[in-house]
Amino acid sequence: MDFSAIDQQISDLESCIENTVPVSPDEELLVGVDLGTAYIVVVVLNSKKQPVACAMEFARVIKDGLVVDYMGATRITRKLVGELEERLGRKLERAAIAVPPGTGKKDCSTHQYVVEGAGLEVTAILDEPTAANAVLGLENGVIVDIGGGTTGLSVLEDGKVVYVADEPTGGTHVTLVLSGSFKVCFEEAEDLKKVKERQDEILPVVRPVIQKMGTIVKAHIKDRDISAIYLVGGTCCLKDMEKVVEKEVGIPVYKPANPFLVTPLGIALNC
Ligand code: ATP
Repeated sequence: MDFSAIDQQISDLESCIENTVPVSPDEELLVGVDLGTAYIVVVVLNSKKQPVACAMEFARVIKDGLVVDYMGATRITRKLVGELEERLGRKLERAAIAVPPGTGKKDCSTHQYVVEGAGLEVTAILDEPTAANAVLGLENGVIVDIGGGTTGLSVLEDGKVVYVADEPTGGTHVTLVLSGSFKVCFEEAEDLKKVKERQDEILPVVRPVIQKMGTIVKAHIKDRDISAIYLVGGTCCLKDMEKVVEKEVGIPVYKPANPFLVTPLGIALNC
């Protein structure tokens, strides 16, 4: 698969973390809120579906896709939305949100109340890998979204989602293993994990966790005729992890240059 157009879109979105693209006062804006285990991300697109602003904060208010600190989640989301409104000089009114596949109705409502508490009307609630497919545009294959807390997957056949699953094991587990091995606290391990120059020494240490993610995927697709797996989510930024997953599952695995912001962008595209 040629990821060049997707890579460009994600790179444009990344630059909107620091920079704001001007919008006109009456232009329709699309907003996506990703309440994640590791990050809360808010993405704003213009009427041409191009990124104009993005804000995020590392937060531990969601665990395995469930809101565990309602007040904290609402406060951070409200703060991020406020920051973006100030940068854009505009009120944000509506947003789409996403939850891990298989999230129950009550837990979906909690995500919705958090975002409503931040002053936005919720227009759509998607599952995360399906949101990612708004960016990838796959007809067939499996999208695996590995975030902070969970490995979620969505199987597509002829453009339709025919199966979803989500299991604990994500970037937090990777960080915990690094923290133990390098004898540093969680926060230091979290930073260490993202240092480009140290990726070659990180992968061998966390390989068992990545293999576990691979076994999760394998178990869920074992009775299906799957020709390709596509990785998204922050954890998939780990250099060469796709090779570990490919070896474990035995099916070609692909990922864009920066898999981190694919799902938040896909959420906004569904607003
Ligand atoms: P979930 O989808 O499980 O609810 P989330 O939405 O917070 O969680 P993402 O934002 O997709 O998940 O990814 C967050 C995870 O990705 C964190 O564990 C973070 O440490 C990890 N991560 C982010 N950037 C990198 C990087 N460059 N290298 C390795 N891991 C990274």
